[in-house]
Amino acid sequence: MRKKEKVIVRRAQDYNPDNIKNIIQEGLSEFGLNSRAKGRITIKPNVVMAHHKVAPSAFTRPEFLDGLLGALTDGKKDNSKIVLAEKTGAGLPTNRMFRRAGYYKLKKKHRIKLLPIEASKKKTVRLQKGKVHEEVTTAREIVDNDFLVYAPKLKSNVLCQGLTAALKLNMGLLLDRKRLWNHNLNLGNKIVDLLEVGYPEFIATDGIEISFGGNQLTQHGRHLGIILMATNPVAHDVVCSHIFHLKPKNIEYLHHAQERGYGSLNLDEIEIDGDISLEEIRQKTKNWDLGMVRVDHVDCNIKTIVGEPYCDGGCHGVFLDWLYMFKDRKPELWKNMPDWTVVIGKYSGDVSASRLMVIGTCSEIKGNVKARKKRRIRGCPPKHKDLVIWFILKAGILSPLFRLDLIIDSYLILFINWCKRLVRGRL
Ligand code: SF4
Repeated sequence: MRKKEKVIVRRAQDYNPDNIKNIIQEGLSEFGLNSRAKGRITIKPNVVMAHHKVAPSAFTRPEFLDGLLGALTDGKKDNSKIVLAEKTGAGLPTNRMFRRAGYYKLKKKHRIKLLPIEASKKKTVRLQKGKVHEEVTTAREIVDNDFLVYAPKLKSNVLCQGLTAALKLNMGLLLDRKRLWNHNLNLGNKIVDLLEVGYPEFIATDGIEISFGGNQLTQHGRHLGIILMATNPVAHDVVCSHIFHLKPKNIEYLHHAQERGYGSLNLDEIEIDGDISLEEIRQKTKNWDLGMVRVDHVDCNIKTIVGEPYCDGGCHGVFLDWLYMFKDRKPELWKNMPDWTVVIGKYSGDVSASRLMVIGTCSEIKGNVKARKKRRIRGCPPKHKDLVIWFILKAGILSPLFRLDLIIDSYLILFINWCKRLVRGRL
């Protein structure tokens, strides 16, 4: 009989680093990893974006990493070198997001290196089983290390059938030019491809305050009070999907991961250990709304017409995510969005609208179009950043992410970082 993969779920009421350290230390012992966790250790957190006002819950909290770092180093005198490596969301500078996430104090306290992947020395790995990527270029420290630790933030995400946990964390290995490439119907296979490069030896997940129910960057935090630990990312994500009342087989990347032999989606083949039962957690989350609807079913003034293909991970999902930004951070505007009609995908039929926006490179209307204003945003899919900017310029709709400090981060700091990399030959 196949050995069951183990997932440990522990109660953690708050972000007390000492408590988190003790829990993770016990987890490392239970997995028999204490002696392995040394040498060149790379930790990959989730910092897709961090901002005190508009994205306060989108990243692994520094207190959680403080506890994790304490657990990895406590009582050891082996001079381990710890690197915390990440690439934030497309078009955002990682060093600024590290600062906004409060990671610089970890650097001082634990003498670790903060490594923005885009500024690192890179390594390219040719994939043996890749279905979307033939090769992946990322930081050398992700590929060459003695111990790879993943520290995801448990989140919901409408772009990938509801769940961001361990497998989805691998999107942060990719540099911007490959991040949104094939981020469409191929997203599930794209995510699974990355397991060949990023396969953690240990996962410790921040589920103390999870991020839930809206846009993956701006959604609100909600107390769940747990830490998950595992060594198999598929088993880990299967448990997380049950916490969110999602069926793992309906999450494309999990479905593909099982098909490609990375693990079973059957809960009976997973041993759940710890001091809180899955049933107790599910009772708590049973009425939590993930926001998982088709974009044309969203109840707001903007009417969306969908054509084929329906890309959860592409234009349809990105636009739904854009809409949810207003629900999350500008609820008064969410109720009074300007009257636009948006078409996404190839639509067969007539369209009559006062103001019409077509989103996506492949999108077209095969029918008569009557509209006073017509605008288009291209991309397969367009970046979140592009939707924010183009909706301001073409439709006059100000997103909650349109802030002076974020404009400086996304353009000025990004340009300065690019110049530095050019000088160092690390583009
Ligand atoms: S351009 Fe077309 S194929 Fe590409 S993500 Fe958008 S809807 Fe999907």
